[in-house]
Amino acid sequence: MVGHVDPQRNLYTCDNQYLKFVGEDTFYGFLARHRPELFRDDDFVSLYTQNNGRMSVPPSILAKALLLQSHDRVSDEEAADRARFDIRWKVALGIGIDDQPFVKSTLQAFRARLVLHQVEQAIFQRSIDAAKGSGLLASRKLKVALDTTPIFGKGAVKDTYNLLADGIRQLVRALALLSGQAPEVWAREHDLTRYWGTSIKGEAEIDWDNAAARQAFLDGIVVDAERLLAVAERVRAGYPPDSAESGRIDEAARLLKQLLVQDVERTTEGKAVLKGGVAPDRVPSVTDPQMRHGRKNASRKFTGHKGAIAVDTESGVITAAGVLAGNAPDRTDALELVQETRRNTGCEVAKVIGDCAYGDGATRRVFKEHGCELVVKVPRGGKPGYYAKGDFKIDLEHDCVTCPAGQTTRKWKLKKVRRGVRGECVAVKQFEFAAERCRGCAHYRQCVSSKLGKGRSVVLHPEEGLLQEARAYQETAAFREDTKLRQTVEHRLARLVQLGIRKARYFGRHKTRWQLLLAAAVANLVLVAAWESATGTSPGLGTFSFSLLLQLTFFLLLVPNLIGEVKRRQHLVFPASVRGRVPQIPGFRPDF
Ligand code: SF4
Repeated sequence: MVGHVDPQRNLYTCDNQYLKFVGEDTFYGFLARHRPELFRDDDFVSLYTQNNGRMSVPPSILAKALLLQSHDRVSDEEAADRARFDIRWKVALGIGIDDQPFVKSTLQAFRARLVLHQVEQAIFQRSIDAAKGSGLLASRKLKVALDTTPIFGKGAVKDTYNLLADGIRQLVRALALLSGQAPEVWAREHDLTRYWGTSIKGEAEIDWDNAAARQAFLDGIVVDAERLLAVAERVRAGYPPDSAESGRIDEAARLLKQLLVQDVERTTEGKAVLKGGVAPDRVPSVTDPQMRHGRKNASRKFTGHKGAIAVDTESGVITAAGVLAGNAPDRTDALELVQETRRNTGCEVAKVIGDCAYGDGATRRVFKEHGCELVVKVPRGGKPGYYAKGDFKIDLEHDCVTCPAGQTTRKWKLKKVRRGVRGECVAVKQFEFAAERCRGCAHYRQCVSSKLGKGRSVVLHPEEGLLQEARAYQETAAFREDTKLRQTVEHRLARLVQLGIRKARYFGRHKTRWQLLLAAAVANLVLVAAWESATGTSPGLGTFSFSLLLQLTFFLLLVPNLIGEVKRRQHLVFPASVRGRVPQIPGFRPDF
């Protein structure tokens, strides 16, 4: 059952005694001052059984502990320790100096509840609500900037030999579980013991400089994998196709098959050899099969996922966050981030600003169809030192192209090009200028790279109209102002990296998204705290004076309880010499 924080506030909780000592303007002080507005226990009631079981640790305390954990970048164990003896955490959580609010497993179980019930968005949403309540994120048409950053996966990345061995172990575990045996025993019975060492490659006593020895070693692993897959198929046939047991075997077998297909191929003689290059969508880790090889740019590679965020450029508030596959283009689910921004903030999105990674024709088309203006620079393109397509005047209405020398052509033919994420084949127009006219042109060397004396050709984009609009807009002052706003998202990504988002703490994209959302919530709340400190506003309670009024009312209602509490504990507050002589109410610390 869900536990609740006692609404009768205790005089001796740390937020009452040490708030000024810790600092009201710190993140800890902010959480302490806004404890009731930020999280209520009833917000999490759906995560608990309603009518039986022990009373839980109040979820509002655990939610704040998760924020503190992300803010301080500490482990679960350290978080439990800090809640026990770090005065800053005690102030933020609003607990007593000798309270031990939770142990490590309580925090882990609460996090698991949030993720399993798919309410991980709740904590992030509260940070946006706080930004709106404080006036930092005012209701208006938003300009939103999008960008992504690499997140290194938590799973172990291994070479092909050890990766296949991991895949074999995974399938053995699934089969052993169904047979009720320990995996090591099952493996021994099926002659797979050698996969239960620390590293099959490290333990193999072969000459790695000898190609034949390497070949025999790889052959042995592939034969074992194929033999195991055949056993798995026989076992799976004994269960109904839609049963949990069948699903478990299927999942492990599918992964092992994928590892074999992506890295190994058979020669015409039937020998298994390593494939050259990296297969598209290669799985580099068995412990986190959702990790992918990605690259931030031509030279920077990484293995893991991509964090994608949307940021309100005026306030810097992160309005939506998601995690993509490491090899997904940045533009993947860009519209989803914008729609999530609308849902989370309740505001309209007027403009979306991104870098060139969001500027392909299909993305521009999708945004236009959803009534969203996408501001992305169109790359100049073309070979360096030569006229680019942007130097030609393309008249779509009259179906002609005019070159920098003033020559116009209406001659075109259809050309097939690959476009889009999946590289679909589409037919586009290719306008051609007459070779004899180009060869006599003074601009020939700047315009045509062919050594065969051909004329210049210009290939239109499937979304050429949209690109023309974008090219025209990027010549305006408004475009330059818009693109300056894009740096906000880079600053917010840098803040998230400070909060530890560069490295995934958990396996899988779903839990990594949880980590990203929590870091984004902390980043937003720190902004709100700074805004509040600068303007004297308070999230969810309007002006500071109104907040003060509420606190005063609360204090007056509690006076009778407080008097009783002081009577019971006056030996802790007042020295023996003055005890009994101190007037009841004036006896409180004046700065309380
Ligand atoms: S080379 Fe041909 S296309 Fe290029 S500027 Fe000269 S005439 Fe125009």
